[in-house]
Amino acid sequence: MSQLFNFSAGPAMLPVEVLKQAQEELLNWNGQGVSVMEISHRDPAYVHMAREAEQDLRDLLNVPDDYEVLFLQGGGRGQFSAVPQNIASPHATVDYLDTGIWSGFAIREAEKFVSRVNIAGQVQEGAKGKEIQSPKDWKLSENAAYFHYCPNETVDGIALHEIPDVKAPIVADMSSNILSEPLDVSKFGVIYAGAQKNIGPSGFAIAIVNKKLLGQPQKQVSSIMDYQLQAKDGSMYNTPNTFAWYLAGLV
Ligand SMILES: *Cc1c(COP(=O)(O)O)cnc(C)c1O
Repeated sequence: MSQLFNFSAGPAMLPVEVLKQAQEELLNWNGQGVSVMEISHRDPAYVHMAREAEQDLRDLLNVPDDYEVLFLQGGGRGQFSAVPQNIASPHATVDYLDTGIWSGFAIREAEKFVSRVNIAGQVQEGAKGKEIQSPKDWKLSENAAYFHYCPNETVDGIALHEIPDVKAPIVADMSSNILSEPLDVSKFGVIYAGAQKNIGPSGFAIAIVNKKLLGQPQKQVSSIMDYQLQAKDGSMYNTPNTFAWYLAGLV
């Protein structure tokens, strides 16, 4: 059979080396005599693998020590909902750049959880087609709990290459650009990504969260989306997607 290449954004291709290793280890992972899907996430061998995957991500992105790295479920859209519930109060105003389909979904989700979602900037017709409004025309709120944007609008093809210069903590949906270039994590409050474009299988998600923003989640936040609780439990408050975590680690 000839090998095809799927250029669709997501779920995207996984490295052949990763698939081959997963295939080789499928029936007998790490000498355990069973697959990685058939052992407890509390098993020392599994925990070791899981922590190694986290450390590898920390090393690759140079994540500072005052950031939590969380391995979660519910993909990118799960984070649209988790972000406002974890780092904004129900009375808060939050700023969002509206630059395409994914920003739009994020905005409509945030509207459920905070009193005001301010559209700080949008896409407009420019000389060469659609472009993001110049930062000098953005209408930032005085006391926004955070500023959210999507650096790479996967469907619309609009990208913002500079990290915005704003006062509020910056939240970025990096589902389709994380790990594609060096990144100064310290400039962000929260970086999140659904896994299926750049990291691993769908349904899995990664959130990198500045610890300063934790501590006051909204009362109704579901426990599996509670960053603080997940951080305390090493992203194993509930049973994680063990196979996705393993594959992401290999990637
Ligand atoms: C694909 C994508 C999502 C959606 O991810 P799901 O895992 O399907 O929820 C969100 N944001 C961006 C930028 C994406 O490319």
